[in-house]
Amino acid sequence: MTPETLFSDHDYRIVGLSSPNLSPLGLLEGEVSEAFNELVRRARQSGLELRCASGYRSLDRQAAIWNGKFQSIRPVEADDGTALQRNAFSARDWIYKILRFSALPGSSRHHWGTDCDIYDAAAVADDYKLQLTVTESRAQFGELHRWLDERIADDRSCGFFRPYAHDRGGVSIEPWHLSYAPLSSEFEWRLRPTVWRALCSDRSIEGMAEIDAELEFIFERFVRVAEDWCPERYRSGRSN
Ligand SMILES: [Zn+2]
Repeated sequence: MTPETLFSDHDYRIVGLSSPNLSPLGLLEGEVSEAFNELVRRARQSGLELRCASGYRSLDRQAAIWNGKFQSIRPVEADDGTALQRNAFSARDWIYKILRFSALPGSSRHHWGTDCDIYDAAAVADDYKLQLTVTESRAQFGELHRWLDERIADDRSCGFFRPYAHDRGGVSIEPWHLSYAPLSSEFEWRLRPTVWRALCSDRSIEGMAEIDAELEFIFERFVRVAEDWCPERYRSGRSN
């Protein structure tokens, strides 16, 4: 028996190796898409045009982003937005610079079809180029985020909450990233370094030796989110 036979299709889905039952638009899994559409409908009543800019993402897609950053084909930035130079860092330190803004392939919440990056299309011109930065969330999309703040605070946000609302020293704050707690809380519970190693360590992911050496710490700091990111009632149904 190979180690992989110990894992189910569900495990493959958790690390982005098999896709969820995506809605016709292909951004979110069916149940999540229905909840999102309800949130869109409510937002529209307040004059907001809530849109999902990025939803489901496969492991291959996340690996392309990751490898591009590891090889400096894509920019890697410091917290203040300045571009970092690859040759100023060891491979290990470079990985941590990437992790601040990009998920390790196989550990992205976007693999699950439960998470999406959102914006308000009513607040910008059609040809506006989305930045997904904290500054932009407070400026152009301030009205949308204040509307979401109110609903998230008293659980009227159709099951969507922000896993990256606070900076815990790992992933930078991402107010635009919403996660559908009724489903994603189970995925996050099941995603463990053992699952990741078994299913992802033979994939084409740059920096694998350094990742493997640091994996437990990476999970602790960059994959796990605060326990209270969503109300307790959404976490109570998960199985061990
Ligand atoms: Zn996101």
